Amino acid sequence: MARRAELVLVHAGELATLAGGTGGPRVGREMNSLGIVEDGAVAVSGGRIVEVGSTKEVLGKLEGGYEVVDVSGKLVTPGLIDPHVHLVFAGSREGELEAMAVEKTPYLEIKSRGGGMPTTLKATAEAPTEELVRKTSKILDTMLVHGTTTIEAKSGYEMTFQGEIRQLEIIERLRKSHPIGIVPTFLAQGIPFGFENRVDGLTDEIVKAWIPEIARRKLARYCDVFCEKGYFNQDQTRRILEAGRAHGMKPRIHADWLAHSGGARLGSELGVVSADHLIFTPKEEVESLVKKGVRGTLLPTTPFAYLGTYANARMIIESGLPVALGTDLSAADMCESMQMMMAMATLQMKMTSAESLVAATLNAAHSIEMGGEVGSLEVGKRADLVVFDAPNHKHFAYHYGVNLADKVFKNGKLVAEKGRRTG
Ligand SMILES: [Zn+2]
Repeated sequence: MARRAELVLVHAGELATLAGGTGGPRVGREMNSLGIVEDGAVAVSGGRIVEVGSTKEVLGKLEGGYEVVDVSGKLVTPGLIDPHVHLVFAGSREGELEAMAVEKTPYLEIKSRGGGMPTTLKATAEAPTEELVRKTSKILDTMLVHGTTTIEAKSGYEMTFQGEIRQLEIIERLRKSHPIGIVPTFLAQGIPFGFENRVDGLTDEIVKAWIPEIARRKLARYCDVFCEKGYFNQDQTRRILEAGRAHGMKPRIHADWLAHSGGARLGSELGVVSADHLIFTPKEEVESLVKKGVRGTLLPTTPFAYLGTYANARMIIESGLPVALGTDLSAADMCESMQMMMAMATLQMKMTSAESLVAATLNAAHSIEMGGEVGSLEVGKRADLVVFDAPNHKHFAYHYGVNLADKVFKNGKLVAEKGRRTG
């Protein structure tokens, strides 16, 4: 029986469907499998994918009366997914970034001189809500025009009871009004000025007051902690993540970003959904994450900008951890583009172009437990699609630092074209 469709993309030079597999994230060698169809087509109805395959096959199954978009010679992929974003903040720290990159001033030294994250906590707390909404919307627009259609968004830049609620309210407002799909996370991130020696007390407040209120108002799906020297230690991290879980917020963790500080070990013990960064995590700890079913989200921006040391992606992939990529966009350094993450993953972390695209789509969807809805082009999933002005996926690592996204569709609707929002 012929199917109805409203929109059909036809003649894609390379249609990377990411279809097939187990229904879970791709691991190990499976990460090189993109489910590519040449001369591919995707048919959309009611915001969902109704047919995928070769143009001839798909058109043969449809009733007439649909809009056709000819994408001859172009690459079509699922909408890119960014599973690690520090979204809401005021101010900027470009001077510090340059000092870290050029003069090699360590981050913790900048922080001990009164710079770093606490300055963002202060600037954000002082910023009017509408200013934060405007700044945040602009970031989301930039993500969207670069092909990102779903993100995880963390709070964490006020670190007071009212402030964190306000951050999550802003995220909720934008979740309802912006085309990008947003999954919200409460993040216990920085230690505000004056709390350096009172982190246990701050942890008590988070556990007893903040988390119950955030959960009561259903403002966050996940609870995440910065487990690192100068932030929350392992004991404090454990208390926060256990409290989050007791209130229905699943745990995620910032692990081994600046040093081998025990975050990954704690992440496997607690069975977090995703352990992120993993720059200094040894092989045996990666293997225990695999055993516990944890996903790993690798974030190439801070290594690119100033750390110099990247996560050992080859070891991590070969250990069998499902690997996703994220921008880690934050007040410390800003890059909205998942295209750029794929370029860095291939050129610096030695992930193949196929592994990088899996990590930026299907595995990123599983990092935020959205794998049943987005992350691949399969019948029944949301019609989140990007048409790239490139002949194949290897161009992400070859033609980088520019926006290759030509058209971006969210739920079957054209939301960006040639670098501008259209809806
Ligand atoms: Zn982060």
